[in-house]
Amino acid sequence: MESFKRLGLSKPILKVISELGFEKPSQIQELAIPQIIQGNRDFIGLAQTGTGKTAAFGWPLLERIDPSLNHTQGLILAPTRELGQQIAGQIEMFSKFMDQINVLAVYGGASIVDQIRALRKPQHIIIATPGRLIDLIKRKSVKLEKLRFLILDEADEMLNMGFKEDLDTILQYTPEEKQVWLFSATMSPEIRRIVKTYMEHPAEVKLNVEKEVNANILHQFTVVKQSDKSEALTRFLDVDPDIRGVVFCRTRQDTQDLADLLLKKNYRAEALHGDLSQKQRDRVMDLFKRKELQVLIATDIAARGIDVNDLTHVFHVALPDDLSYYTHRSGRTARAGKKGISLAIINVHEKEKLNRISRSLDIQFQQVLVPQTREVYSLKVENWCRGVLEKPFKNMLDPKVLEKAKMLFGNLSKEELIAKILMIEIEKWNVGANVDLNFDFPKKSQGKPNNYERHGHPKKNFRAGGKKEFSKKKKSFGKRRVG
Ligand code: AMP
Repeated sequence: MESFKRLGLSKPILKVISELGFEKPSQIQELAIPQIIQGNRDFIGLAQTGTGKTAAFGWPLLERIDPSLNHTQGLILAPTRELGQQIAGQIEMFSKFMDQINVLAVYGGASIVDQIRALRKPQHIIIATPGRLIDLIKRKSVKLEKLRFLILDEADEMLNMGFKEDLDTILQYTPEEKQVWLFSATMSPEIRRIVKTYMEHPAEVKLNVEKEVNANILHQFTVVKQSDKSEALTRFLDVDPDIRGVVFCRTRQDTQDLADLLLKKNYRAEALHGDLSQKQRDRVMDLFKRKELQVLIATDIAARGIDVNDLTHVFHVALPDDLSYYTHRSGRTARAGKKGISLAIINVHEKEKLNRISRSLDIQFQQVLVPQTREVYSLKVENWCRGVLEKPFKNMLDPKVLEKAKMLFGNLSKEELIAKILMIEIEKWNVGANVDLNFDFPKKSQGKPNNYERHGHPKKNFRAGGKKEFSKKKKSFGKRRVG
């Protein structure tokens, strides 16, 4: 707790930190908090989701809000509804032992009438997505004349999503003398422009982003035919019932198709993408958080800001076009110090893209094999048998009914009876045909068979060699709204 105290945090916040069981400040908290907990300097923090940055700005912001003043003092802009809601949830939790600080999240896709009503009460901190905020400013429901702190969270993502003009508009409604704290995973020329236009001599700290986020992640890949990708995914899910993860697809349609297919096969999966209504998204996130879903199938955009910490896996059913997204995606697992697996299910043509990711992000990938159906059966049968054994025995059957069943089965041996019951069970499982899904590389190609390892027991690493074809500087951030 001493290390948090040294950052200048007061008792009410230290008490929450202690309740949450955080042991020491994260790197971004160490770097940011002393800079912004007092003074008037603008601030840039280059860090991404998963590094503890919400607390890095949330704690100092709470320390600096005056609850006795009835106007909006802090505004946090976030690119997505999910991230906005998540930030609001965290800030509320962090303020639990402080004098009443009102916190409200406003975002598109939810009733504006309800938000306008909530805004009649003075909200000390507003968390908003840009479009909805502009609506509310224009309707005079949000007033920013006395704003003291503006936080731009995931600024790079806001620009990627085409919010550049919205940001300019919002900034015009804020007073000159406010402080701006900007957080971004990357520093692009567009972000430099925002910094130049709206910030004054900012202090800047940079986290070793990729290393910080990826240190606890085991990066794996497997090569299959494009048409076998979903079947490969289900086999990985089958052999490890403890998997809980996010599966990334490229488009909304791919996301929905894969979720429909998994649901049809009785997997606990749901899609999360931009075509869903806010209510549907909330329902899906709620199911996932309550661990009623094994996997969430998501687009990159929709998955931004998902705050679920104990994910075992991230699957890439399609690799992202923008390599920096690989880091964002895999950062969904191995969060808050936990280990995780990021597994790319690729076709042979995606191998070159994987090589680029490997080189540019300095990641070593291990090749793993898609489990064979016999492994899937063997594990599922084992799990099923254990389930039967562990079921507490309560004889609730009518003795006459039991007697009748015994009589009917009388001619079967124990072996025959087990085999029949098992067959009936197995028919429900929908395990695909007994084919090897692993792509058979032509001889001498890069992924030689001796590089293959069983999933979960890799011996050797695959590392892209050759000259550096991809420079980090060349990463392009196009405007995309896929989620
Ligand atoms: P964020 O980067 O804000 O999305 O945070 C990622 C997760 O790390 C959140 O669930 C936080 O509650 C958690 N977290 C934040 N600060 C710490 C810390 N100092 N120690 C451990 N976990 C933390």
